[in-house]
Amino acid sequence: MSRDIGIYYAFWADSWEADFMPYIDRVKKLGFDQLEVHAAVILRMGDTKRQKLKKAADDRGIELSCGIGLTADMDVSSLDEAIRLRGVDFMKDIIRAVGSIDGKMISGTVHSYWPAVPPKGMIDKTPVWEQSIKSMRELVKVAEECEVILNVEVINRFEQFLLNTCEEAVKYVKEIDSPWCRILLDTFHMNIEEDSIGGAIKLAGPYLSELHIGETNRKPPGCGRMPWDEIKRGLDSIGFDGPLVMEPFVRPGGEVGWDIAVWRDLMPGADLDEEALKSVKFVRETLA
Ligand code: MN
Repeated sequence: MSRDIGIYYAFWADSWEADFMPYIDRVKKLGFDQLEVHAAVILRMGDTKRQKLKKAADDRGIELSCGIGLTADMDVSSLDEAIRLRGVDFMKDIIRAVGSIDGKMISGTVHSYWPAVPPKGMIDKTPVWEQSIKSMRELVKVAEECEVILNVEVINRFEQFLLNTCEEAVKYVKEIDSPWCRILLDTFHMNIEEDSIGGAIKLAGPYLSELHIGETNRKPPGCGRMPWDEIKRGLDSIGFDGPLVMEPFVRPGGEVGWDIAVWRDLMPGADLDEEALKSVKFVRETLA
């Protein structure tokens, strides 16, 4: 079995808004199969630029995938119906835009918002959960029409509160009961929240549609202490054939550094292209 290896463009970027075109050649040259971009930017760039991007990716044999963390004003799990409905409309537009370039999946906080704290004093998240489920039931209809899978990302407690463990995500996707809603696990978040990383992967089983990979401090795979052998065994045991997308963040500064909470240079003096090249080789040997 061989798994596609991707990387999120924000490794190199310091703002979320970006021209993705140059990244296609860059990741191709470095040996990746896939480039993950920002779904909201895909919507905002308009159809002409979107189709050009898709063509460039096709020409170079690069698969495109999309990530998003919905912002608080577009929170599809909001207890405020006006915000929730605005979020649902926004997500529908995004799904259609991604579908128009045959983007196969949108992953991330598609079920709530990010970075998030619960409503003040909240001890029972059921009302927020129910709002999210209500939104997702509507979104999967559009996802099905556009053939785009929505992957809910399991995120650590300091950034989100709705789905902190794989067990919660499995409950969520079972409640939605649609092949268009699946799970994204991320080794960085799992390292904080899961009793067993391999166990979480096995628990996700057929619902796991993408894996974000990175070290415990979000350095590229291969330079830390993430249990890659255990992760490989977990992926093999469930016959996982989805993409492995690395999501390293190592440089402070800008909107990206702030939102990700990078307060120091994690790889001083390093050439990011060289690090990506080393990491893709490592992943190809140990995980793909
Ligand atoms: Mn992630």
